[in-house]
Amino acid sequence: MIDTPRPPATVSVHGLVKRYRSGGGTLEVLRGVDLEIEPGGFVAIVGSSGSGKSTLLHLMGLLDAPDDGAVLLDGVRADDQSAGRRDRLRNTALGMVFQSYHLLPELDAVENVLAPLLVRHGPLAWLAQRRAAHQHAESLLTRFGLGGRLRHKPRQLSGGEMQRVAIARALVTRPRLLLADEPTGNLDAESGRGILDTLCELNRGDGLSIVLVTHDPAIAARADRVVRLVSGRVEDA
Ligand code: ADP
Ligand code: MG
Repeated sequence: MIDTPRPPATVSVHGLVKRYRSGGGTLEVLRGVDLEIEPGGFVAIVGSSGSGKSTLLHLMGLLDAPDDGAVLLDGVRADDQSAGRRDRLRNTALGMVFQSYHLLPELDAVENVLAPLLVRHGPLAWLAQRRAAHQHAESLLTRFGLGGRLRHKPRQLSGGEMQRVAIARALVTRPRLLLADEPTGNLDAESGRGILDTLCELNRGDGLSIVLVTHDPAIAARADRVVRLVSGRVEDA
């Protein structure tokens, strides 16, 4: 019998270890995490506060380096690449949503969403496609219910609205993988469901792979698979 080769996981981590040194002591937050996200997969990561969920997501997003183990994107080791190469991988393959939105205060909603495209293309190439990019950014913001807030600066937006701008920014580069850290944490239950509906549409319709950190069981239940971080390792929840 011939094995059909499986496409490589969008992202996989193997034996991931992460330690933080603080105040003379060492805290081992991740103690050998193994996890694979299949293409088009939707995995929720749950766990108590301080269990290492954000740490794991940062490592998957190549924002920080593990002390041991490896992060593979599309089957290729990525965590040990140069900083420049990791930046490019992040800008092309990944979209990230952080717990604290990281929006630029001087830019309005549309400009914040466009920022990753400007980084990718550089000023000259940017001019050629500025109009299409603006349309794409505005349609994303409208899809997330912010059609009436396109020109608002972050300080003129509520926490939930800033979070939705951050999600639109994560998607503007059309990534194949979205890493989202408690993206509905600052939203009321109904807006949270609305965001999840849109993310599920992108997952099912466009094949966007999603890794979503949440402490909300109702949100986690929307994923194909739920894993729990316990004592620095993942187990199926
Ligand atoms: P979670 O997202 O599950 O709440 P985190 O990944 O943010 O957990 O943090 C896991 C643990 O690591 C916490 O105990 C936190 O205090 C600690 N930690 C996180 N970042 C750092 C850091 N940069 N330096 C020292 N300790 C950290
Ligand atoms: Mg966290």
